[in-house]
Amino acid sequence: MPLEAPLAPVAERVTELNARYKHHSATAVLEHALSDPMVGSIALVSSFGAESVALLHMLSVMDRTTPVLFLDTEMLFEETLIYQREVAHKLGLQNIRLIRPNRDQIFARDTDGNLHRSDPDACCALRKTEPLQNALDGFDSWITGRKRFQGQNRATLDFFENEDGKRIKVNPLVHWTPQDVSDYITNNRLPRHPLVAGGYPSIGCAPCTSRVAPGEDARAGRWRGAEKEECGIHFVNGKMVRGNASESSDANVIVSDDGFGNDGWTGGFALLSKPRTDDVGLDLPSDTMPETLAGQLDDVPVIRVDFPSFADGRGFTIARQLRLMGYGGRLRARGHVIADQYAMARRAGFDEVEISADLAARQPEEQWRARADWQAHDYQSRLRGTV
Ligand code: SF4
Repeated sequence: MPLEAPLAPVAERVTELNARYKHHSATAVLEHALSDPMVGSIALVSSFGAESVALLHMLSVMDRTTPVLFLDTEMLFEETLIYQREVAHKLGLQNIRLIRPNRDQIFARDTDGNLHRSDPDACCALRKTEPLQNALDGFDSWITGRKRFQGQNRATLDFFENEDGKRIKVNPLVHWTPQDVSDYITNNRLPRHPLVAGGYPSIGCAPCTSRVAPGEDARAGRWRGAEKEECGIHFVNGKMVRGNASESSDANVIVSDDGFGNDGWTGGFALLSKPRTDDVGLDLPSDTMPETLAGQLDDVPVIRVDFPSFADGRGFTIARQLRLMGYGGRLRARGHVIADQYAMARRAGFDEVEISADLAARQPEEQWRARADWQAHDYQSRLRGTV
């Protein structure tokens, strides 16, 4: 409900709301948040992660037209994107707004899609915080699924929170335990994120999420090994060093028609703009215009084309154009390519695909071999529901 008259400052309203609803249940807090004039216009922000479906279900029962902001960082697991569509359809959510990073800013600040490796805070700012802040500009409040058990930064959360005097954050599930979430999902027969069963109790971007071992904190797999606990959407306070080394590995897997293999290439890679010798391969960002490379590729033995997101198909176009221009060396698709896209990659002109060890663990060799028949496994058509 939009604010109709100037109200008290956010801090005063938060104090009042917490006092008013402090003994209420999660569902009651959410219901009041959707109608209380002190809360104002409101959206739910969801990652469609491991536990998101509980809050989304509550919202769908109360008012399925409430805006739901889904932040696609273009680094998400493909399973998350598919799950988001399934959940939205099942719950009948009518106002999902897809939020993506600004393309010009991506080109300017994360050209090769590797900012998450060199500076994850900057990457989160670019791909999460800034797009979300822009999307929230028209709202007085937003609903989150954060809970106290999720770590020391969240241990004292209240139902209503003051976001820098600008907006109210509403956290209906603050007092829920993992068991509460699980029970709710089971009792309401809601679909679970497919990665949960694979050891991912907390799911964010693919490059920054790893499996969690039994006994570890549920969020231990997020930014594992980095001094980073929050993405910047929420407050950053009291950074904590996580325990174990990352399960993710730079030892990527090369997928070819022979199945999984190691990289037989012994030369290095360089961007075109950097000095190179003839035995050095090239890394091409996904925004490369192949026609600008005419005459420069004759002695390049291997070209890797970056796929920053599995939903980003520009790499296929680059490969087709390079082949049309007569490039005869090895072409490799690198990054967020999934098994369903292997046959398309081959048809576009790629010889092989380079994937992370983590993706190889989730999508083993048999899956890639099975997807080699593109006609039977038309991924895009399946997403569109036309096969
Ligand atoms: S979680 Fe990782 S990939 Fe996602 S925005 Fe943050 S640093 Fe980038």
